[in-house]
Amino acid sequence: MPPETFTGLALDELTRRLGSRTRALAARKWLHEARPLPAVLPERIPGVAPRPWAELRAEAPLPQWSIVDRRQAQDGTTKLALALAGATVETVLIPGHGRSTVCVSSQAGCTRRCTFCATATLGFTRHLTAGEIVLQYFVARAEAPAHAPVRNVVFMGMGEPMDNLDAVLAAVDRLTDEGAPRLATSHVTVSTAGVLPGLQRFLRESPAEIALSLNATTDDQRERLMPHNRTWPIASLLDVLRDDHARGSGRRYYVEYVLWDGLNDADADAERLAALLLGLPAHVNLIPHNPFAGSALRPPGAQRVLAFQRRVRAGGVRCLVRWPRGTEIAAACGQLALG
Ligand code: SAH
Repeated sequence: MPPETFTGLALDELTRRLGSRTRALAARKWLHEARPLPAVLPERIPGVAPRPWAELRAEAPLPQWSIVDRRQAQDGTTKLALALAGATVETVLIPGHGRSTVCVSSQAGCTRRCTFCATATLGFTRHLTAGEIVLQYFVARAEAPAHAPVRNVVFMGMGEPMDNLDAVLAAVDRLTDEGAPRLATSHVTVSTAGVLPGLQRFLRESPAEIALSLNATTDDQRERLMPHNRTWPIASLLDVLRDDHARGSGRRYYVEYVLWDGLNDADADAERLAALLLGLPAHVNLIPHNPFAGSALRPPGAQRVLAFQRRVRAGGVRCLVRWPRGTEIAAACGQLALG
């Protein structure tokens, strides 16, 4: 069992320990408003009796954390390298119009071996605890510009969330329960490389949004990019989404598709992609490849990306292009490798 931490505690557990719901909500509110975010819990906070607070501080402190690197891109995208106990991870703050998104890591390194992702080159260090995942939200929130508070959290940083699902489900719960930050479940998105058992369980148990990183339209293609496709091929993953849809979940399914020049960006790929997703409430996000040192892969030109988007749309599937943010500080998708 991971050590208990303040940010990892369920609201009911916090309520039990502090002796009332009102105090539990006050403690969460205090953390939400803390600027700067402290490294350790202070001796007193407003609205909580000293004795139960002292006990809580001793038994469930904040996870050990410090910011070891902070880089800001021209567009305001900020990448934070956080030292946690025995691990370093990256968290990205992405400011938007009137609201920001935080991209959190679920593992230090990653358990998967996708050939196009910089994080995979790090190997796997360890799973993060729920408290460490939630902490990333609070750390990034304290850095967000006043005109763009954090409203969205995406589990699209380092790691494969479905390989650390207990912690991820708990983190989603802490971010969306009645206590601060009380994010809308529709504003929390968990992205998977396609780990089928985890995906099934997530769809059954979590109210948050799901994104599937598909990235290819044939198993032959996908296997070379994402080795675990040999275990869980494309059709098996889409069947899981179809079953969930048939059960009347009412979910939409985000599908991520990284585009590589000359590899998966032909019109025929776009047509196959649309055909695969037909009948599902799918939203495709096209992500032009973000280069990193040591990878020979290249993104297609902008015209090709737009032509691909048109083809997918012509096939009856919603499709947006996620133009890269923060590439010059290596903060974009697939570039998180502590550099
Ligand atoms: N492991 C999870 C969470 C990481 S999300 C997942 O795979 O979904 C990271 C997203 O960035 C994924 O959709 C992945 O396909 C994409 N990605 C990885 N490497 C990339 C790169 N070099 N350029 C652009 N996108 C990349």
